[in-house]
Amino acid sequence: MRVLVVEDEKRLAAGLRNGLEAEGFAVDVALDGTDGLWMARERPHDVIVLDIMLPGVNGYTICRTLRHEKVWTPILMLTAKDGEWDEVEALDAGADDYLTKPFSYAVLLARLRALLRRGARRRPAVLTAGDLRLDPATKQVTRGGVEVALTARELSVLEYLLRRSGQVVSKREILDHVWDYDFEGDPNIVEVYVGHLRNKLDRPFGRQSIATVRGSGYRLASDGP
Ligand code: CA
Repeated sequence: MRVLVVEDEKRLAAGLRNGLEAEGFAVDVALDGTDGLWMARERPHDVIVLDIMLPGVNGYTICRTLRHEKVWTPILMLTAKDGEWDEVEALDAGADDYLTKPFSYAVLLARLRALLRRGARRRPAVLTAGDLRLDPATKQVTRGGVEVALTARELSVLEYLLRRSGQVVSKREILDHVWDYDFEGDPNIVEVYVGHLRNKLDRPFGRQSIATVRGSGYRLASDGP
C-alpha cells in the first residue's frame, strides 16, 4: 500500500515516514502543498495524509482540486486547531476523515486501515443533477451556470434532495434531516420549501427536476444537460 504524506512540519513528516514504513507502507512525502498536489496527481496512492496549513497550496484546495479532477484516493486530513469549523470544512472539501493534531500514532494507523478497507469511491464534494450544482462548502447554487440565491432552509432541503438524487424521498425524511428534531409545526412546511425550490431552480429555466411522487414524497432527477 502506497501512502502520500503531505506535511510541512519536517519532524512530523519524518516521523510519519518512519512509522508507516515500519508498518510496511511505501511512503512518499511532500513538504509543501505544490509538491503534494503534483505527487497526488502523478502517482497512484492508496491513501493520502494531508495537512491543512501548508506552504504553496493549502490542504483544502488540494483536496477540492483532486476531487474536482475525479481523483478519489481516500484522504485523511490533519487539522491543527480543534475547531469544529476546520473539520466541517475538511469533509466539505471531499476528505474522508480527519484527525486533530496532536494525534496518537496508533489512532492514525487505525484510521488509515479503515480508509484502505473502504477504498476509493466516488464522493464528489460538489453535488450535481444535470446542470444543477450545489457546493455545500460555499453554499453556491447554480443552474446551467447561472447563480441562484437560496435561503439557508431552501439550501438544506436542496442538499438533502441532491444527496438522495434519483430516489424517492418522503416529506418525513426531509423533515427529519433538515428541521430540528423537536419541530412540531405542520409537516406540510416541506411542500412550501419544495415550491420555493421549483420557483427558483425549475420554472425560470423551463425545467421539472423535482417530481412529486403521489403519496410518497419527492424525487429529484437531472433535467437538462
Ligand atoms: Ca502545517
